[in-house]
Amino acid sequence: MKKVESFELNHRKVVAPYIRKCCVLTGEKGDMVSKFDLRFLQPNKEAMPTASLHALEHLLAGFLREQLEDIIDISPMGCRTGFYVTLWGDRSHEEIKEALEYALKKVLDAKEVPASNDLQCGNYRDLSLFGAKEYARSILEKGIRTNCYAE
Ligand SMILES: [Zn+2]
Repeated sequence: MKKVESFELNHRKVVAPYIRKCCVLTGEKGDMVSKFDLRFLQPNKEAMPTASLHALEHLLAGFLREQLEDIIDISPMGCRTGFYVTLWGDRSHEEIKEALEYALKKVLDAKEVPASNDLQCGNYRDLSLFGAKEYARSILEKGIRTNCYAE
């Protein structure tokens, strides 16, 4: 089996919230893709309820795209401690951090969760704007690190 990058990360040693650049891949034609681990909660200590994580997914999908060109995807982690974001190009931690802070601040002022209906979402009943705001506030208060391991 091929190595899975995230399985190589020492989840006991990381200190959340942080942004980690997982990899930069180069395609056959030279196009580059960067993937980041946006870790909001401490692994194996905390996990977000699905309604909060799901609402953050909907909200960040729009707000991050306001700041970052060329997002390919932003998806929640199955362990419910954060998200992965994938973008075209070789991108910097600083750029992602700035965009994430902007997006989380916008979450605090959001009046509704976008696409919270059965046409646009696969489980629209499981969305919590209140929860999304509480987690966004707490992550901003703690501060987002650009080094995943304790300094
Ligand atoms: Zn949804």
